[in-house]
Amino acid sequence: MHTSQIVQAWGKILRGEYPSLSIEITKECPLKCPGCYAYDAAHLGGGQTLRDLNDRRGQSLVDGVLEVVDRLKPLHLSIVGGDPLVRYRELESMIPPLLARGIHVQIVTSAFRTMGPTWANLERLYVVVSIDGLQPEHDARRAPATYDRILRNITGQRVTIHCTITGQMMKRPGYLGEFLKFWTPRPEIKKVWFSLFTPQVGDKMPEILSAGERQRAITDLIQLRKQFPKLDMSETVIRQFGSPPKSPQDCVFAQTTQTLSADLETKITPCQFGGNPDCASCGCVASMALAGIAAHRLGGILPVGTIFKASAKIGENRAKKRSDSGGKSQSKDPLQILQVKEAGCGSVEQRTNRP
Ligand code: SF4
Ligand code: SF4
Repeated sequence: MHTSQIVQAWGKILRGEYPSLSIEITKECPLKCPGCYAYDAAHLGGGQTLRDLNDRRGQSLVDGVLEVVDRLKPLHLSIVGGDPLVRYRELESMIPPLLARGIHVQIVTSAFRTMGPTWANLERLYVVVSIDGLQPEHDARRAPATYDRILRNITGQRVTIHCTITGQMMKRPGYLGEFLKFWTPRPEIKKVWFSLFTPQVGDKMPEILSAGERQRAITDLIQLRKQFPKLDMSETVIRQFGSPPKSPQDCVFAQTTQTLSADLETKITPCQFGGNPDCASCGCVASMALAGIAAHRLGGILPVGTIFKASAKIGENRAKKRSDSGGKSQSKDPLQILQVKEAGCGSVEQRTNRP
């Protein structure tokens, strides 16, 4: 993330807007992964489920996504599902106009089918492929998006692998190392991210990591990042798994990302998981990456998170004033006075962990 992007994001926060948008562009998915939160009864807050929504297709979907983007003006758009590749033709139509708007676009998929032949070369387009462990476990959980099919479908692409670590994986010592040994030598793999399985409050599932397994995952990842440069997670980010945000109000990711479901209207709260996620057990890599930035102390004194909270409060008040005045309030953008030269500032991007 460059300084100019940070300043742009900060400007949106001060205006009470979300820098990042995530859209479930379809309710359909050919997979039936155990523990998938998208089809959980609580995902949309109870009442209706993802399958009940009227999703769009064809030109109506393309136009709908562009209308939402033009209205909310995110800096970063994450396209998820269901599986967004179910709407492959629509993606092919919407990607060029989205990129032309200067937005960073991320597609999160199971890679159950092939992708656009030009996608690997498009600037600001990122494809994230979800792979849940080594072949025997992955294929059992994620058929028809099996290892064989993924390997065929990512040929010629440049993708990020995202693996959600489960309790079952952590019961086998050396599992994460074997995973990295298999995937990182391949030229199609640009980088690898890991999340930890995040349950809903009250869940009891074998996927949930015990406290000991969580700690071992942290220790293993800190070691493995030294051996596998494609494991694109800093030690600071990995250590954040040991102290996740206490609540959605403390979660910078939840506070800076708006998530819309497949009708392009229903908001998913408090974060992309929906329902009542167990923040104390959160393992979302995007949340940890932003928590790592929030924990950083400017000048060794003032945590970035403190500045973020103050900025978010200002933004909230400004958004309220705008809504009270029916959108007529035209207060000046406090960042217009800043002239900032772009400079390298690490490589943190927004991430999401489904499909
Ligand atoms: S991303 Fe994690 S910490 Fe943030 S609100 Fe969701 S469950 Fe809680
Ligand atoms: S986790 Fe993703 S790929 Fe699996 S069923 Fe859910 S939406 Fe589909």
